[in-house]
Amino acid sequence: MAHMIIDGKACQAISGNTLEVRSPVDGKVFEHIPRADARDIDLAVRAARSALSGAWGQLSATERGRLMQKLGQLVTTHAEELAQLEARDTGKPMTTARNDMVVLSRYFEFYGGAADKVHGEVIPFLNGYQVNLLREPLGVTAHIIPWNYPAQMMGRSIAPALAMGNAVVVKPAEDACLSCLRVAELALEAGFPQGALNIVSGLGEEAGAALANHPDINFISFTGSNEVGVLIQQAAAKHAVKCTLELGGKSPHLVFEDANLELAASTVVRGIIQNTGQTCTAGSRLLVQQSIHDPFVALVAEKFKQVRVGTPEMNLDCGPVVNPTQQQRVNRFIDQAKASGLPVLAQGQIDPGVPADGYYVMPTFFGAVPPDHPLAHQEVFGPVLAAMPFTDEAHAISLANGTDYGLVAVWTENGGRQQRVAKALKCGQVFVNSFGAGGGVELPFGGVKRSGHGREKGFLALEEMSTTKTVVHFHG
Ligand code: ADP
Repeated sequence: MAHMIIDGKACQAISGNTLEVRSPVDGKVFEHIPRADARDIDLAVRAARSALSGAWGQLSATERGRLMQKLGQLVTTHAEELAQLEARDTGKPMTTARNDMVVLSRYFEFYGGAADKVHGEVIPFLNGYQVNLLREPLGVTAHIIPWNYPAQMMGRSIAPALAMGNAVVVKPAEDACLSCLRVAELALEAGFPQGALNIVSGLGEEAGAALANHPDINFISFTGSNEVGVLIQQAAAKHAVKCTLELGGKSPHLVFEDANLELAASTVVRGIIQNTGQTCTAGSRLLVQQSIHDPFVALVAEKFKQVRVGTPEMNLDCGPVVNPTQQQRVNRFIDQAKASGLPVLAQGQIDPGVPADGYYVMPTFFGAVPPDHPLAHQEVFGPVLAAMPFTDEAHAISLANGTDYGLVAVWTENGGRQQRVAKALKCGQVFVNSFGAGGGVELPFGGVKRSGHGREKGFLALEEMSTTKTVVHFHG
């Protein structure tokens, strides 16, 4: 039985209730987690509050940074164990799970190193005054984590918060949280003082809602669905606390006629099948200039046919999706697209050896998708790619910006066009002649429009997770 960490101690829910954990690989229950409710959340928030005035709050920035770097090293030492747990819990191929642990450790390393490099400012003011701008922690920060990259997302969210001296309460997703629970245990081993890092497992509408609505938190970081994002923002508004929201996406690739088509085609396929399409930044729309449309789409189709789906141990391109609800959702999009007559340009292959009760879906590539079709503007969150043609730069930009979401790649060798299009796109990141699905730890990341607000990653996350105090001193 897995356990939570509250106030530096491993514990179960006060109620004693638990939830079954099913593996998407075969649909079988393989573990149980505590099902926390509002009482457990309250304990965790109190523990975090006490940590701020206790041992955690008294550490220097350098000491905080060292602890974080130690945690990063422990993640590396335990990477294989964590990756196995992540793969069993989410179904992702082992290579992906292993890579996720490299990124997780990188978050602690990067932000651990940054902890003592965030300075305040001195502001010139009237004669006789000294004005200092201090940068301070927000206090108790709440982190609600999704199931698609549990460990990575936890690192992305809590590392900058800890670096700035906040005490954190994490609510990972009920669908996949075992790696997160284990990372919290490793934080104790690294020597984090009690209450600095608390983690509480449970249902979104129960434990998650209790955390978001708790009157004594100072910030919420949320990554997940648009529907829940709205609830989080409402909860934050009730207590006038800040939140960052990382929500859905429908990111387009814009492939112009002068692009390196071979490189673009491989990257486009990788951009949609990564994590079985369960990535908010998945490149799910393929916009192709009319003059090269047919041969390019044929090239993508040829590569797409090679995509193989299997168990984590088979270590193919895709695993199963996370749960039966996601499986039904993806299949519904595919069935609707077929029923509306969209041509299937290619399908992947599901390995015949996968367990019959696992949540596997068929990677599918549709062509000639009209801009008003649901597949062109709704997030599938599965390995489904939608292609459509454009005539010129203006048309490409208008199609790319024609949804509620935004992260984009641009494929063209023309330097002027690269700059023009990058400026015209309404989104949080642009990759030119590449695709990063969120990019590295160093690169500020976040959406515009309904993809959310606030920035994670890079140094901007340190600003999000801290506040300033202006100290005005009259010395005559
Ligand atoms: P999905 O629909 O893809 O499962 P969710 O947005 O429901 O994504 O889940 C993302 C995270 O939000 C999970 O940790 C989940 O437990 C949590 N969550 C779900 N509902 C709520 C809620 N009402 N309040 C707070 N957190 C929630």
